[in-house]
Amino acid sequence: MAGDGSVKLIDEKTGKRTDGRKFNELRPTKIEVGVLNNADGSALIYMGNNKILAAVYGPRELHPKHLALPDRALVQCYYRMSTFSVAERKSPAPSRREREISKVISDALNSVILTKDFPRTTIDIYIQVLQADGGTRCASLTAACTALADAGIPMRGIISGVAAGLVNDTVVLDLHDIEDQKGSGDIPIGYSATLDEISLLQLDGVFTIEQFEEAVKLAIEGAKQIYEIQKEALREKYAQIRAEFAGEPEEEEAEEEDTMEIVSQSLAESEASVDETAIDEAVASEETEEKKTGEKTTIEIEEVSEVEEVSEVEEVSEVEEVSEVETDEHQDLVSDIAEELNEELDEDEKELEKELNSLGTEKPEENDDTTTTNTTESEDDETEHEEINDLEE
Ligand code: ADP
Repeated sequence: MAGDGSVKLIDEKTGKRTDGRKFNELRPTKIEVGVLNNADGSALIYMGNNKILAAVYGPRELHPKHLALPDRALVQCYYRMSTFSVAERKSPAPSRREREISKVISDALNSVILTKDFPRTTIDIYIQVLQADGGTRCASLTAACTALADAGIPMRGIISGVAAGLVNDTVVLDLHDIEDQKGSGDIPIGYSATLDEISLLQLDGVFTIEQFEEAVKLAIEGAKQIYEIQKEALREKYAQIRAEFAGEPEEEEAEEEDTMEIVSQSLAESEASVDETAIDEAVASEETEEKKTGEKTTIEIEEVSEVEEVSEVEEVSEVEEVSEVETDEHQDLVSDIAEELNEELDEDEKELEKELNSLGTEKPEENDDTTTTNTTESEDDETEHEEINDLEE
């Protein structure tokens, strides 16, 4: 509440205020982003002796559901002063002033949040004043909007809050508690530097039109400075995240290098421990395997020499080609042998017939022998036929 303005708050000689600031100077301001793990977004603002924490949750389901808006998100803001935030213990019950500040902050934020992107949901903003020193609504608005940005809530712009006021007939920027109480009036504003829009403007006290215009102008200049602080705070947070992500591959690379070292060491050790007998045994067992699989050692030797020069995919295709060529050659060879054997068999049969004819006319006794011989030969023929079939198979 503005005072009568009779208390001396500005040094006439130096023009400095009670805390040593010039009329257009902000209090030392700092913002930390992402200070709460359990909130979707958060920000802690230090503005002079003000310490204010803002936490954002959402967009999330709204309870009770009948409060949900069918076409957009509901922005709910809860401004609370801690019982220990002021010199005299503040009642924990929400006061009318707290409800009023909650409403004006939520209205200001509603103007920049793209609420239509999240129909039937709620975006909840909890503001806790840990330490109050004048101008808490403006600092709260700044913290809340920074926390919304931290939560990744889409917005048209970022709002920065600051007040300008009248102290000893001088328009000053960013009033502290004593100036707020003993000064002639104050004008808190919420201003978006990117949009060049005022989303909150209140007036307490009496101003001339010139003083009002001067105060608004001064507040806008202050808001632009706060906007830079907000941007810097958000950048710092995301620079940290980027650094964390950028750090991971380096660690992985280092781990990989360590692993490679261990592997190469163990390989060297195992190579040293293997003697020639073991190598011979390994080769012998490989050969047995080859025989089992029907693949020839020569094929594999060719494969290996080619494999070393080409990629793994090429290796596989070449190996398949070589195996196919070998199989075809093998089949050709088998059919050639079969043909030769058939020809020989036909010749034998013809000779046998001739012998039988000549023997049949001369000696019947010998005929039995011939028959026996013939039987034996036919048995041999059968065996030969069987062999041919086996080879063809
Ligand atoms: P703002 O904090 O935005 O300037 P007000 O003008 O209503 O809002 O409050 C002025 C200042 O008065 C506050 O910043 C705070 O320091 C102080 N104040 C507010 N409420 C209380 C309270 N219940 N007890 C003590 N001091 C208070």
